[in-house]
Amino acid sequence: MPADPLIILRVAVDAPVPTVFDYLPAIDRTGNPPAPGMRVLVPFGRSRRLGMILEVAARTEQDPDRLKPVDSLLDPTPLLGAADLAFILWAARYYHHAPGEALFGALPARLRRPSSPPLESGTPGWCLTPEGRAGVAGLTRAPKQALVARLLAASDTGLSSAELKRRLGDCQGALRALAARGWVEPCRIASVPRTGGRAVAAGPELDPHQRRAVDSVRDAFGGFRAFLLEGVTGSGKTEVYIRLLQRLLAAGRQALLLVPEIGLTPQLLQRLTERLDTPMVTLHSALSAGERERAWRCAAAGEATLVLGTRSAVFVPLPRLGLILVDEEHDLSFKQQDGFRYSARDLAVRRAQQARCPVVLGSATPSLETLHNAHSGRYTRLELPRRAGGALPPELLTLDIRAQPLRAGLSPVLLRLMREELEQGNQVLLFLNRRGFAPVLTCHTCGWVSECPRCDARLTLHLAAERLWCHHCGWTRALPGACPDCKGLDLRPLGRGTERLEAELWDLFPDTSLARIDRDSTRRKGELERLLGAARRGEIPLLLGTQMLAKGHHFPGVTLVGILELDQGLYGADFRAPERMAQLVVQVAGRAGRARRPGRVVLQTRHPDHPLLLSLQRQGYPAFAATALEERRQAALPPFSHQALMRAESRDAQAASKFLERAAGEATAVAAKGVAVLGPIPAPMERRGGRHRAHLLAQSDLRPDLQAFLTAWLTRVRALKGGSRVRWSLDTDPQEML
Ligand code: ADP
Ligand code: ZN
Ligand code: ZN
Repeated sequence: MPADPLIILRVAVDAPVPTVFDYLPAIDRTGNPPAPGMRVLVPFGRSRRLGMILEVAARTEQDPDRLKPVDSLLDPTPLLGAADLAFILWAARYYHHAPGEALFGALPARLRRPSSPPLESGTPGWCLTPEGRAGVAGLTRAPKQALVARLLAASDTGLSSAELKRRLGDCQGALRALAARGWVEPCRIASVPRTGGRAVAAGPELDPHQRRAVDSVRDAFGGFRAFLLEGVTGSGKTEVYIRLLQRLLAAGRQALLLVPEIGLTPQLLQRLTERLDTPMVTLHSALSAGERERAWRCAAAGEATLVLGTRSAVFVPLPRLGLILVDEEHDLSFKQQDGFRYSARDLAVRRAQQARCPVVLGSATPSLETLHNAHSGRYTRLELPRRAGGALPPELLTLDIRAQPLRAGLSPVLLRLMREELEQGNQVLLFLNRRGFAPVLTCHTCGWVSECPRCDARLTLHLAAERLWCHHCGWTRALPGACPDCKGLDLRPLGRGTERLEAELWDLFPDTSLARIDRDSTRRKGELERLLGAARRGEIPLLLGTQMLAKGHHFPGVTLVGILELDQGLYGADFRAPERMAQLVVQVAGRAGRARRPGRVVLQTRHPDHPLLLSLQRQGYPAFAATALEERRQAALPPFSHQALMRAESRDAQAASKFLERAAGEATAVAAKGVAVLGPIPAPMERRGGRHRAHLLAQSDLRPDLQAFLTAWLTRVRALKGGSRVRWSLDTDPQEML
């Protein structure tokens, strides 16, 4: 009797291991046959782990008699298709990350647990009954109920509980009362909004630059091509995205729009909804696990045609993918900074290549990497040099504050300009990229300073919260009443954060209402949107905030922007510091004067003659970028070379750097051509969160050389004994040297 043909399941296990494992099919073989892209539960070491089937094969390199069967097959149909598997595994290889962890990290969190109950279709919500619909107009005495009923009446499908809460705050009481009257009833709301035949707002007529951009990308539909859409803030990039989406979606394809942070761009969502009659889902970290899985499944099933998402949405399965857009491509939040350290921007390009579709990287301040790719011809550069609708560009002035008398950190000239604008009824925006009251508290008697016990860093004073806080590790303590060292009572804050600036501005402008927008002032849900809305409508004359203010918002009434304390960007330890500073300046400047009022941007500095600052001020970002790129070329820094950073940390003061010394020894043994290994050196913040940290940098002119080296090297590093007291990781194409 012929033996059964051998069936081998090649499985990537959700564990930090670089290899994949072979298993036999489950003993209980009822149900569907196993296929790639399905999850399995497998025996692994002494425990059970999740795994993803990569391949169903007929042979194995192992002894088949020693293979174990999988415990169970978890999915009736594959979660990931062949293209999705190939893409995620490519990313895992490129970033030298465990394939199973990469795959499971790309799934919604609920699917990373073996026992999540299946999702019910739709989200729980409420809709009006016919009686309710008839009665709405007559509801006058219960205002909250009337509000709820009117909102529900305005939607024909009802609204999810989450949506009701977002719009109205807590309305459980009103809903209960309405339900008791028989006016509302619970229902389930479809995850993808119904569409078809909805009236769509018309857009403005495109200017010639926008039209050229739309035509170039449209001509590339159906094949791979990467574009840089370089347009000053307010030049109509979003309008270009919308036109491209309209055309692509009409052709029945799916599109992916990646943005840095959705919470910061409520206007974008609204604009897309107004302009596109298409089933759209959003994917970001503020969603509940259920909402996230539902949105993910809608995209994977092809029901949602547009996915608007942050970083991790780059992995969402899209069977009919036809276009990828990456907005604000320079933004650091596209880089995952722990675990699987991928760049969603870079992966978007790879994914477009694999899916044979165009990808558009848009920014007013493109990263030097992307500009370099445009110069070398790898990316096609599309420019939008003018603001849309005839709006005038802001004027950038540097203000030398050396030897100036400062009040609240503001020079006399800036104060005078602020007064003038406010008196004319215009808005003023001040940018200070440091939250809290003061970056350090000190004892005037003995010189004690507030240091974090776990980091080489100072504790920030948060006065309203009456606490000292470490912004690096989160360590915190109550504000001391007296100096911990000498018991002296004269404790003084040094320096200034947004909380202090706010208090000082109240004194300087007692009759002007103002709003502070930073992470501390917007912790309450809905608060950010409320403040941004009021700011946009011109209701708040004086705005101050951190980089939260620099992202994507339009404040048409702002005619003056003051930028305080960015000098450290000119001399930062990280070679990318000037690039980040210039991007920040231009992005903040872009908030001003977006309507027909020209805006002025005042940059206070103690280095008015710095060459990078001069080129930025006189010739704008493109000239700055050209100067900065030339400096990088001369120093053989990225994008003219390629880097990988090995980080190690340990509780023991020496262990991390000792481990990296041995890793450096292994690098010598690999002896790769064209690869230099530098270090180990202490990390810029040597101690953080109670751990000692060190770095080892590998650098090469050629990416393939670096990749070949890393593969060989990591095999040896993983085999090093005694590394268990050391945590280490590899960061390919690191964006920050922290
Ligand atoms: P960006 O994304 O580059 O910041 P937007 O697409 O948001 O620019 O456009 C900025 C403003 O100009 C928006 O209010 C938009 O409606 C308007 N706008 C865009 N394109 C045009 C155009 N061709 N004519 C008139 N107004 C336009
Ligand atoms: Zn003291
Ligand atoms: Zn700390």
